[in-house]
Amino acid sequence: MIWPVVVTVFGLFIGSFLNVCIYRIPKAESVVWPGSRCPQCLNHIRAWDNIPVFSYLFLRGKCRYCGTRIALRYPVVELLSALLAVTFLIRFGLSIPFVIYYLWACTLLVITFIDLDHQIIPDGLSLGGIGVGLIAVIWLPVAYRDALIGLVLGAGILIAIIYGYYFLTGKQGMGGGDVKLLAMIGVFTGWQGVLFTLFSASLMGTLVGIPWTFLQKKGMQAAIPFGPFLSVGALIYVLWGSDIVQWYFHLLG
Ligand SMILES: [Zn+2]
Repeated sequence: MIWPVVVTVFGLFIGSFLNVCIYRIPKAESVVWPGSRCPQCLNHIRAWDNIPVFSYLFLRGKCRYCGTRIALRYPVVELLSALLAVTFLIRFGLSIPFVIYYLWACTLLVITFIDLDHQIIPDGLSLGGIGVGLIAVIWLPVAYRDALIGLVLGAGILIAIIYGYYFLTGKQGMGGGDVKLLAMIGVFTGWQGVLFTLFSASLMGTLVGIPWTFLQKKGMQAAIPFGPFLSVGALIYVLWGSDIVQWYFHLLG
C-alpha cells in the first residue's frame, strides 16, 4: 500500500514541473532556470509556497506578495499528473513500462494544455517524443514493427484527411502539429493504437464540438484544437484499449 502513496506524491511534484513546462515551452524559455516567479509581481515563489495543491489551498489561490489570482489550472494539472501516475501504476505495476508510459502521459498532458492555450504543438515534444519512443518502445508491450507502422500510419492517415478535407472544402481543418502528434502516439501504441486514438478522438471531438460550435455561434469556423482529443484517446487506449475493443466486438456478436 506504500507505493500508491509514494507515486501520488511524486505525481503531484512532477505536475508542478509540468505547469512550468506548459507556461515556458511556448515562450522558448528554459524549464529549469530560473525558479518559479509570480508572472504579475515577479517575486520568487519560495519552496513552501510551491508545494503542489496544498500551497494553492493555503494561499487561497492568491500570490502571497501581490494578491494576484493563481489560475485554478495549476492545482488541476498537479492533480491530473498524480491521477495519471496512480492509474498507470495500477495498470502496469511497478515496472519500466509504468515509468515510460507515465512520462509519455506527462508529455501528452503538457501538449494538451499548450494546444488549448496557443493552438500549437511544439516540435520538441512531438518530434522529440518520436525520437525517445523509437528507443523506449524496446521496453514496452508493443512490437517494434507495430511501432514503426504506427509512426507511418499516424502521420499518413492525418495527412490524407487534411488533404481530403482541403480538396472537398477548400479549408484547412487540422495542422501539421496534429500529424506529428499522431505519429508520436503511433510509436508508443503501435498502429492498432493509432486507429483507436483517431476513432475515439473523432468521437469525442464531435460530442464536444457540436455544443461548442452551437455556443460560439460562429459556425464551424470556430475550430477546437484536436491535439487534446488525440492525447486523451491515446491515454485511454494504453490504459483500457484492449478491454474496450474486446467489449465492442462482443457487443457486435
Ligand atoms: Zn505576485
